[in-house]
Amino acid sequence: MIYDVIIIGGGVTGCCIARTLSKYDLKICVLEKEAEIASGTTKANSGVVHAGYSSAREYIKRYLCIKGNNLYTQAVKELNFPFKRIGSFVVALEDDQIKQLDEVRKKGIEDGIPDLELIFDKDTILDMEPNLTEDVVGVLHAPSAGIVSPYELTFALAENAAMNGVNFFRNHEVIKIKHQDYIFTVRTYGGEFQGRNLINAAGLFSSKISKMLGLDYFSILPRKGEYILFDRNAIQLNKVLFPMATKVSKGILVCPTLHGNTFIGPNAQNITDREDLSTTTAGLKEILEGAKKLVPNLPLRSSIRNFAGIRAVPDTYDFIIDNTDVYGFINVAGILSPGLTATFAIAEKVVDFLELLGLELKVREDYNPIRPKPDRFKDFTKEELDAKIHKDPAWGRIICRCETIPEKEIIDAIRAPVGSKTVDGIKFRCRPGMGRCQGGFCRPRVIEILARELGIQYEEITKRGEDTNILVGKTKDIALRDISGGANEG
Ligand SMILES: Cc1cc2nc3c(=O)[nH]c(=O)nc-3n(C[C@H](O)[C@H](O)[C@H](O)COP(=O)(O)OP(=O)(O)OC[C@H]3O[C@@H](n4cnc5c(N)ncnc54)[C@H](O)[C@@H]3O)c2cc1C
Repeated sequence: MIYDVIIIGGGVTGCCIARTLSKYDLKICVLEKEAEIASGTTKANSGVVHAGYSSAREYIKRYLCIKGNNLYTQAVKELNFPFKRIGSFVVALEDDQIKQLDEVRKKGIEDGIPDLELIFDKDTILDMEPNLTEDVVGVLHAPSAGIVSPYELTFALAENAAMNGVNFFRNHEVIKIKHQDYIFTVRTYGGEFQGRNLINAAGLFSSKISKMLGLDYFSILPRKGEYILFDRNAIQLNKVLFPMATKVSKGILVCPTLHGNTFIGPNAQNITDREDLSTTTAGLKEILEGAKKLVPNLPLRSSIRNFAGIRAVPDTYDFIIDNTDVYGFINVAGILSPGLTATFAIAEKVVDFLELLGLELKVREDYNPIRPKPDRFKDFTKEELDAKIHKDPAWGRIICRCETIPEKEIIDAIRAPVGSKTVDGIKFRCRPGMGRCQGGFCRPRVIEILARELGIQYEEITKRGEDTNILVGKTKDIALRDISGGANEG
């Protein structure tokens, strides 16, 4: 079969393009090298839907961010992913920073960011955010900023795209591309694919993909950001809190999550290994010191996890969204922050490019933009739960005690379109292992359910794909093998 569009990369960018295109009568596939989608930069970031004032005016990322922020309102109605417009503060701690913030405000309003305001009255500010430092002298308030769960958004996009006919191929790393007679032949470790149009949304590896077609006109620098995550309800925050921005980043923020946790971070550290997600003592110290300037009473004893994400920073420092010299090949590369915010606007731009290339965009008669909200134990009343448990006892078997996740939610996550097949996939899809014990209690149970549902042995279950197996065999079998091995040797 020859696809109309092949998309390389199953991060938020690739999945959003796939979902946007799934409206049309086209044959589309997504090729992802990892065992799960949302395994790259999309997995670990701040999850802030930015208002759009922070990028300079010469960058397209500024305008795609403002537009993308606005597009979330409709998208959340259709895709039912966790998102809240809680608003953000940029916090000024010195009088002369106010003038700078006022410049940012004026430009933001001119560019269409709604309701941007400066607030100077300390009582009003501390009423809105009681845990903020008393040293605050003013804030830039952006009510349109929000928080989103980046991977849950991406799962929703992929599920809806798959419902509308998009094929997803995971564990399919692209290794070679040929372009001949207007057809791309894409070789992966899982087989060959042919398509008329090819979209490169490979994140940190997008320059490598572009070079496979001889297009060597940009480079991507990996820049790591570390985080500390605090337990649910350890501190109450109402807004996303930013310091004054620096030249390289928006600075270390303090931010609530949609699941009631709080995190601090990220720092910004250039690295060479694109997969180095380690955290360092120096890095964690740096973010702690930065965050304390905004919220001095951080609940340090309640930290439950440190983690890191890697930005794909292009040498232009702006998104690269290009109809290239190779007919039908579109680079969607260097999607650094605010790429998550801009994602719906980026996808629209790609569709416009494809239309320019002559792709016929006829809306499918059976297109369904609605991805139903997954059923969640926590959303039901006691009466509703009783009825559910009566019908299916898996609703009553709690697997993750920290996050109160029943077996039924895990089964649904496995059976969903583009369902999860690894322990991490399940964790990111419905949260067992996200809580205080970090999977200490529920992991064996999750392995058991995965093995049963997928019809495979426990030893075949992996944490996040190839070479990350968790179990090596049954303790008794291994002990017996060792004993008999020993006897033979004797
Ligand atoms: C620390 C940090 C904080 C951030 N905070 C925010 C924020 O608050 N708000 C915001 O808007 N943005 C934020 N961002 C940016 C946002 O996370 C990114 O813009 C977005 O996740 C990029 O998604 P992507 O799909 O382009 O890349 P990715 O998620 O990396 O997806 C690319 C995919 O391509 C796959 N791939 C790579 N090579 C191949 C191959 N050869 N074959 C097949 N598949 C391949 C990868 O496995 C990966 O899944 C932040 C980023 C970081 C790192």
